[in-house]
Amino acid sequence: MEIERKTEKVYGYPGLLTDRKEHFCPGCSHGILSKVIAEIISEMGLHERAIGVYGAGCASIMYEYIGIKGVGAPPGSAVGIAAGIKDAMKDALVFAYVGDADIASDLSVVIGAAMRNDKITVICENNFNMGVSGGAMSPATPLGIATTTSPSGRSAAGQGNPLALSELVKGTKGVTYCARGSSHSPGAVRKTKAMIKKAFMEQIFGNGMGFVEVAGMCPTNLNLPPVEAATKVKEILEELPTGETK
Ligand code: SF4
Repeated sequence: MEIERKTEKVYGYPGLLTDRKEHFCPGCSHGILSKVIAEIISEMGLHERAIGVYGAGCASIMYEYIGIKGVGAPPGSAVGIAAGIKDAMKDALVFAYVGDADIASDLSVVIGAAMRNDKITVICENNFNMGVSGGAMSPATPLGIATTTSPSGRSAAGQGNPLALSELVKGTKGVTYCARGSSHSPGAVRKTKAMIKKAFMEQIFGNGMGFVEVAGMCPTNLNLPPVEAATKVKEILEELPTGETK
C-alpha cells in the first residue's frame, strides 16, 4: 500500500531579501530584523510603496539587503529624513530603522516628528550600545553593563541613568502606537513582527506615528556567544517590560 505523504512549507527565505551577503556578526539582531521587515512588507504586499531610511551604524546599508527603495542617513537624522520623504510621497509606506545610539544622538528629531504628527513608522533596534563604534556606551545602556566607555559597568553615579526610549516617545501626542518587543527568542520575534505590522497599519490608516523599540543582541560588543547574548537580553528585559504601551 502506498502511503500518501503531505508536506507543508512552514518556513522559507523571504523573497524580498536580496542575494547580497549580510555583513552582520553571528547572532546580531540586525540580521533577524532585516528578515522580519522583509517578511512583513512582502506579506502586506507593500514592496512597491515601501521606503526604508536606515540610520547610521551597523545597519546603515540595510538598503542593500531588503529589496525595496531605501537610503542610508547621517547620524541622528533618519527619522527626519523619513518624515520629509513621507511629506513628499504621501502614499508611500515610510519607515526609519535606527539603533539606540543613533536615535538618542538627536532626540529632538523624533520629538519634532511626533509633534508634527508625521505619519511614519520608527523601528528602533536597541542593542544597548553603539555597535559600530566598537561598543561605546549608548544613552540606553543599562546600569551594570560594561562597554568600552563604561568598562566597570554603567553606574548611575558615573555615567547617569539609562534612557528608556519607548517610555520617552510614547508621551508625545503624535505617537499613536508604541511598543517594545525583543528578538532574543523565536516567540519574542513573532510578537515583535506583529507589533511592526500594527505600526505600519497605523501609518497606512493615517492615524499617526508608530514607534516600535526592539531589544536586540550585539554579541560582539557584549563579548558573549550568540546564545548567551540572547540570555543577557532576556535578563535586561526584566527591568524593561515588553508589550504595547500605547
Ligand atoms: S557589532 Fe554588534 S550591532 Fe554591529 S553587526 Fe556586530 S553584533 Fe551587530
